Amino acid sequence: MGATLRTATERLAATSDTPRLDAELLMAHALGVSRSDLLLRHMSAPVPESFAALLARRAEHEPVAHILGEQEFFGLPFRVTPDVLIPRGDSEVLVEAALAGMPAARRVLDCGTGSGALLLAVLHHLPAAQGVGIDRSATALTVAADNAARLGLSDRVKLAAANWLQPGWDEGLGQFDLILANPPYVEEAAALSPSVREFEPAEALFAGPEGLDDYRALVPQLPVLLAPGGVALVEIGATQAEAVIAIAAAAGFTVRLRHDLGGRPRALELKIPLVNGPGSD
Ligand code: GLN
Repeated sequence: MGATLRTATERLAATSDTPRLDAELLMAHALGVSRSDLLLRHMSAPVPESFAALLARRAEHEPVAHILGEQEFFGLPFRVTPDVLIPRGDSEVLVEAALAGMPAARRVLDCGTGSGALLLAVLHHLPAAQGVGIDRSATALTVAADNAARLGLSDRVKLAAANWLQPGWDEGLGQFDLILANPPYVEEAAALSPSVREFEPAEALFAGPEGLDDYRALVPQLPVLLAPGGVALVEIGATQAEAVIAIAAAAGFTVRLRHDLGGRPRALELKIPLVNGPGSD
């Protein structure tokens, strides 16, 4: 087992930034146990026959989340298919900011919900909140619905097909205390690893030559969807802070920049300043 994991790690180093972790996750999957159980209890078990095929798939760049059909996000298990973006640890900063900034949120909107990771992680921690997740991909919505059911959140989540590039997409949604969005933001010509470019859905990744097309369309539409005092949390690419802050400021927002665990700019916290009533100054 130990030797197999070492050899597998060496083989995956050519494909993956996290070769040891990948090898352990695939081995745990082959054994039908969790990774921590593998490390604590099964390190002297015989290597299951199915491991070699799983390793070969990863060596051909297939993401571990696709091989396992699952990805953990904010400590919760999410089902993942090639129809949705794989939830990333970097996006957890949005959930942290949401829980810290809007602990009393009652209505939550997730724009481009994909697997449902952002919305469902927030609802899991805010038991009084109701959520709406929209996505233009019908197949993504079935994955989000499945995740809502698995996490016992179906009765607090509404999922709907909608595309913010089309007028009228937000009709009847009402207003929200909290809006989450991880829109596509990758530049079309970006040098992505094959694991991302060849396996994850292009419509969840790419947003025009500068990766800004979806911010330009979506951010100016958010003020009317926010209840007074509400907050929108929008994920950004690490180099996009200046450009997206300008888009948000032009839409009337005050902006606070949040960083991910790697210290890179990762999210904008957007608020509409409350107007003082007559007589106050
Ligand atoms: N962070 C993702 C990446 O790796 C992009 C996610 C997105 O476009 N929303 O590339």
